[in-house]
Amino acid sequence: MEVNSKEKLISILNQKCPICGKGHVYRKRNHFFQLPVMKASCEVCHYHYDREPGYFLGAMYVSYGLAVFQGVLAFLIAILLFDDLSPLTLSLIVVSVIVGFSLWNYKLSRVIWMNIFPN
Ligand SMILES: [Zn+2]
Repeated sequence: MEVNSKEKLISILNQKCPICGKGHVYRKRNHFFQLPVMKASCEVCHYHYDREPGYFLGAMYVSYGLAVFQGVLAFLIAILLFDDLSPLTLSLIVVSVIVGFSLWNYKLSRVIWMNIFPN
């Protein structure tokens, strides 16, 4: 089963299984403030997500990279759109963007990590 890069990117953004691209990696949330809960394995291909103890430690680096990218992007957009922002306002904008995307980054970084190192 050959998957092209566009389908792979869509599968990652939809947080689907790195092997089959069909099963959801995370359980549905019961309420808005619930933290993401990862399923033990894929419901379609039975791929076990947590390969070994500490497998997802490397996903922290992916999450860090995503947060830095979003922070830099927010900074650049803010200084391009508004020319008289104070350093404090700029900092608050960058921190809000990073904190706002943190849960999404947490989930996405694990899926990216599983796609980089599936075995
Ligand atoms: Zn699967």
